Amino acid sequence: MDLTIHQNCPSCGAEIELSEADRVIRCPYCDVQNFMVTRGPLRFVLPDKAPDHIRREDMLYAPYLRFKGNIYYCKGKHLKYKVVDTTQQGLQGSLLPHSLGLRPQAMPVSLVTDEVNGHFLRQTIKAKALLERAALLTVIDSENIKAPFYHRAYVGETLSCIYLPLYIDQEVLYDAVTNTALGQGDAIEKLQAHSMQYKSSWAPHFLATLCPHCGDSLTGARDNLILNCRNCHSSWEEKQGGFQRIKWNSVETAFKEMYYLPFWKLSVRTSGIEMKSFADFLRVTNQPLVIQGWHRERELSFLLPAFKVRPSTFLRLGKNMTLAQARIPHGEQQVPVKLHPVTLLRKEAIQALKSVFAGSALNKRKLLPKLPHVRFQTLDANLTYLPFFDKGHDYVQEQTGISIAKSVLHFGRKL
Ligand SMILES: [Zn+2]
Ligand SMILES: [Zn+2]
Repeated sequence: MDLTIHQNCPSCGAEIELSEADRVIRCPYCDVQNFMVTRGPLRFVLPDKAPDHIRREDMLYAPYLRFKGNIYYCKGKHLKYKVVDTTQQGLQGSLLPHSLGLRPQAMPVSLVTDEVNGHFLRQTIKAKALLERAALLTVIDSENIKAPFYHRAYVGETLSCIYLPLYIDQEVLYDAVTNTALGQGDAIEKLQAHSMQYKSSWAPHFLATLCPHCGDSLTGARDNLILNCRNCHSSWEEKQGGFQRIKWNSVETAFKEMYYLPFWKLSVRTSGIEMKSFADFLRVTNQPLVIQGWHRERELSFLLPAFKVRPSTFLRLGKNMTLAQARIPHGEQQVPVKLHPVTLLRKEAIQALKSVFAGSALNKRKLLPKLPHVRFQTLDANLTYLPFFDKGHDYVQEQTGISIAKSVLHFGRKL
């Protein structure tokens, strides 16, 4: 499920339409581009049709929590995963609908701002409980595997809050989206007992997309979490309300019209399992290769997608790119023309390390029980853009021949 969001342009105030993953916000009216910075979950409100005689300041807003993300888990000799997209009540109240149903998909939502008057009912169910419930879905999924649990990771997850507008008219509580009566009696007072006003910390804020180094404008697709400067060839991520330079490179090509996909190159140190060099990784994961001298000299690093794709593709690309990394030459700091956006941050890729490691192992029965003791420490992270040939339905990586279907990439931008 992807939300459509109505939001006012932070520069001219015109109403613009966004997708949930959008961070680079370009206003079609004033042509100004901003980068949206969020702290904590984004908060949305459904549009209401409350009758005119209901005062806006008497409106009530009930929270529903939404979790979207991929859960990976290892149990027995299996590595499994699940794409989770769930919205649940953030407040227990007998009169409230259990779910929002299809409404968040069927109608645009707005970001909660100080213009939303009324009382926000307090969330009583903690986000952690929602995560546990989401994890439970994977446990239910795994119930027929009677074997011990070794590992679980959330990757690329987002948590948001959608408010359902409500009002009280002649002592009856109404759903303000549909104007249907929800009930009456003491339960209404119980709901109202725990409410709060809008908090300014809920609203996202906006950064001008100017290169901190040279002052030129930064570029990036709408859902790009990393912005590039094509003037001084630098790359930036948002951190603590400003842009910070990141380490990156792009691999040169002799071909024209190449499409570049971003990967995180993570140099790691492990504990709990002996794995210092690339040769150790090949040995531990039981790869059918003759280990050579240069394997032993090569440091251990993982090459993982810096974009969201469904788990099966993420694991396949992570494994195959990590194994084939020696074929990829060292890159330069030159921003390529055609770039796929970075939609998965470094910290998310780090969270996926153990799962990709497990997915690389051919001897899962032997390796997976060791996972609870294995720790990965990231020593260095580099964003690396790799050139891909455009082969119609697929992109094929120049040096390694590793391919990915365009449809899978496209679908990944909605995850
Ligand atoms: Zn504008
Ligand atoms: Zn610059």
